[in-house]
Order: sequence, then structure tokens, then C-alpha cells
Amino acid sequence: MLQLASKNLENSAQARLTDLQSTVNALSDFTAKANKAKALWEDKTNSNIGKSAFETIKNTLAEMCVSVKICNYCEQNEANDIEHIYPKSLFPEKAFVWDNYLLACKQCNTAYKSDKFAVLDNNDDIIDLPRNTQPPHDRGVFINPRVEDPSAFMLLNIGSYKFEILPNLLKPDNNKAVKTIEILQLNNRDQLVESRRAAAVYFFQRMDLLTKILTATTIAEIKSLLTPYDAEIDDQMILYDIKVQITAGFKRDIQTHANPSVWNAIKTIESKTNEKWRAIFDAIPDALNW
Ligand SMILES: [Zn+2]
Repeated sequence: MLQLASKNLENSAQARLTDLQSTVNALSDFTAKANKAKALWEDKTNSNIGKSAFETIKNTLAEMCVSVKICNYCEQNEANDIEHIYPKSLFPEKAFVWDNYLLACKQCNTAYKSDKFAVLDNNDDIIDLPRNTQPPHDRGVFINPRVEDPSAFMLLNIGSYKFEILPNLLKPDNNKAVKTIEILQLNNRDQLVESRRAAAVYFFQRMDLLTKILTATTIAEIKSLLTPYDAEIDDQMILYDIKVQITAGFKRDIQTHANPSVWNAIKTIESKTNEKWRAIFDAIPDALNW
């Protein structure tokens, strides 16, 4: 999990959200608010104004995803659902709040996250929230990647391919990391773990190939190194420009790949502790900012 590059929502879509939210907030009773939020959510695209607002919302959220239209929780599946970070059934006052949205895949949204949520009590201990009951307050125990950087709470271990909670966190932050991993089952879904390993292999092979290309002394040598799936080289260009163009292409490959948390852990940890990665980042220091 990584922090999203949050964007502002275009005015007319924001106005629509404000309208819907004030309809919910006008009610005084929690159950009435929750029911209203649910009904308005189900009905949200049944008018032209609603359709257009939620199209804008979805498109803007898609631009904010941590990789190309990828689920911001599992980082593997296509992100198609507008997910409420604070569930609307428990926090109807956040049902139409822009900062409470991100795109997630159907599986993360409905099978894992769903209505599961917890808050902290006054001792910073976790209170799991039963369905359809009013939370005692809104100190959520879940990392909110719209406003918080998950890497400040946990990092992926390149080896086990599971998230490890950073040592020395304060109790509320530690509890947030524990609960986020638990609710999303980030460390227990075998397919996620296996796909992270495959991503690490991909990132290494790609970057290793790029270092070889950058030390090549002839265009013919570069051509022999490239895979059949890389862009064709323009023979009229000089060697330097060809390398610049290829580097840009490889950068795009890295940045648009699934599992950006794997790449983040490689930059943060492996670049310092792993000999082979250290050599790659010594050769291409810019890649630490990719
Ligand atoms: Zn997902």
C-alpha cells in the first residue's frame, strides 16, 4: 500500500457531493442517516447530473491510483469500485466526502474490506465496530492512504513478500498498521504474495537489462540486448539519444507495473542492503526517484 497523489475534485462534481451529504446530515438519527446514505448511494447515477458527477469522480480517482488504474489496496487487480475508506454504513457523515474515496478492485472492496472497520478507544486500544451500530467516535484504526503515507507504518519485506510493521511506532499507529493488514488480509492472500515475488523478479530483470544497455558502445549491441517487446530503435538517432529514449521507456515500464509497493521496498531497502541492487542504483541513481 502506498499513498495516493490526491487531487482536487472539479467544482460541479464537488457541488453534487456536498448536496448529497447535506441531505444525509440533515437527519438527526444515526440509523436514518445510514439508511439515507445507502439509498442515495444506490441511486447516485440515476439522474443526468449524478451520472456526470460520478463519472468525473471515478475518472479523477483513476488518475490518482498508485499505478495504472490498479487497486490501491492489493495493487494487482483492476480498480473499478469507488471504495469508502470509512464505510458509509458506519460513517454516513462521510458517505459523500471526496477525501473518503479511493478506487479498489471488487474483491478488496466487497470480499475483504466491506463494512469491516474499527476505531481506537481512549487508551488507543482497538474497538471492532459491529455492523449497523453507531461508532462511539471516528478515530479510525485503518491507514488512510489519501492522507497518510502507508510506508511510514509498514514496508514490504523483499524475501517473505509480506508487509512488516515498522518498529518503534506509537501505539495508535502500530494498531492502525495491524488492523489495515488484517482487514485487507494483505499478508494472507497467497496470490498477492506470489505476484509480489514475480514483480520483484520483473523489476530486477528490467533494471539489470537497462544497465547493460546503458554501457553498450554500439547500436547493434543495444539491438541485440532489447527484447522483442521493446520499442524499435530509430537507426538515424545517435547512441546517446537512443539510450535516453530507452531509459524513458523502461522508467514507464517500472512506474506502470503492478505492485508499486515492491518497487518502493526495493528503492528503500534493497538499494542499500543488496549488492546487485546497489550496483544497479549506482549505475542509474535517477531510478531512486522513479
Ligand atoms: Zn484489490
